Amino acid sequence: MIEFETPKPIVMNNNALETVAINMMRPVSRYFDEHEHEIPWDYINFMHMAMRATGAGSLAPTEKKPKEGEEVKERPRIGYQTLAHMLEMLAWGDCGMYLVTPGGGLGAAAVEAAGTPEQKEHFLKRFRGDKPVFGAMAMTESQAGSDTSAIRTTAVLDTATNEWVLNGEKIFVTAGHKSLCESNGFIVVWATIDPSAGRAGMRSFVVEAGTPGVQVAKLEHKMGIRASDTASIVLQDACVPFDHMLGSVEIVREATTKGFKGAMATFDATRPLVAATGIGVARAALELLKQMLAEQGVEIRYGLPRQKMTAIEREVIDMEAMLRSSWLLCSSRSGWRITASRTPKKHRWPSYGPDMWSRRLPNARWS
Ligand SMILES: Cc1cc2nc3c(=O)[nH]c(=O)nc-3n(C[C@H](O)[C@H](O)[C@H](O)COP(=O)(O)OP(=O)(O)OC[C@H]3O[C@@H](n4cnc5c(N)ncnc54)[C@H](O)[C@@H]3O)c2cc1C
Repeated sequence: MIEFETPKPIVMNNNALETVAINMMRPVSRYFDEHEHEIPWDYINFMHMAMRATGAGSLAPTEKKPKEGEEVKERPRIGYQTLAHMLEMLAWGDCGMYLVTPGGGLGAAAVEAAGTPEQKEHFLKRFRGDKPVFGAMAMTESQAGSDTSAIRTTAVLDTATNEWVLNGEKIFVTAGHKSLCESNGFIVVWATIDPSAGRAGMRSFVVEAGTPGVQVAKLEHKMGIRASDTASIVLQDACVPFDHMLGSVEIVREATTKGFKGAMATFDATRPLVAATGIGVARAALELLKQMLAEQGVEIRYGLPRQKMTAIEREVIDMEAMLRSSWLLCSSRSGWRITASRTPKKHRWPSYGPDMWSRRLPNARWS
């Protein structure tokens, strides 16, 4: 039987995070929007302590694979859905502040997607420590946005020191400054070990805070999410140990697209969560709209035949329907994809045919 009720652990998490959103984010969100690049340490420290206490660790998708011989419990895995709900709620509180929630972020997601078990243990344990720590991922360059295979940052192995020497410039690195300058974090830098090989040359490298030759060159001034730093990072002969290249040793010289696939796996795991934050913002905007309409005496008369409604009522109801279907698409379909491979077939989340969404979504009128 398909279960449409939200699982209890998710409801409990949501209730707790709604309290955080209302009491810790919203009262200061205007302040941090107007004081760009000031860091909301009270929120960061609180969230770090709270996540440690609850064992949540870090807001990054994690892959807990069963150990050898460990019995796999026959139940749906809801970790990914829980995370999507958490991020939706925090973004509903304030999207900029949500982005400064401490933890591994995209950097940890890249380690999860491309690292060996030893690398995961080594690089990710810092997020469970006493102090808040940040992680980031640097893929984008001025000539390489959507087309990630166009990156020009290079990694050359210095055989004398057995270190990788990185050179290049990365832009738009979320939490780049907090990872390198405000905590003992790291950034995962995507670089090419063979510029002529395109995707087959791409590899990822963990560059830790304090690495000589790494500099935060600029912080963007943005129209929104201003509590979150978006950094340009310059790498000038930055040396990292050989085993900071994510993945097994064999992929160093092989002409393989494994590195590129690691990048895509990172995006697969994190983009649905970015969609969840967008939906959190949309929900907040719609609630504000309804509140403002109510203040002007406009109540939405649900249940009336469509032709008897006002244009505003129809618009609001359409927007609510679209918000709901976007959320279903995000939490069910996308979350299902990530966990499906490890969830027993009979417990998998329902799969909606893509045509169902493609028929409905383009008709959305978010006017
Ligand atoms: C706030 C913010 C935070 C970010 N954080 C990070 C981060 O932490 N790490 C990181 O590495 N990057 C980050 N980015 C960069 C982000 O991933 C890129 O902006 C994104 O990949 C798009 O690249 P671009 O901006 O160069 O746009 P472009 O790739 O130039 O795209 C511009 C437009 O063209 C369209 N387009 C592109 N290619 C095609 C095509 N082949 N066919 C049809 N249409 C196409 C796109 O859909 C888009 O509408 C961040 C960006 C922002 C704004």
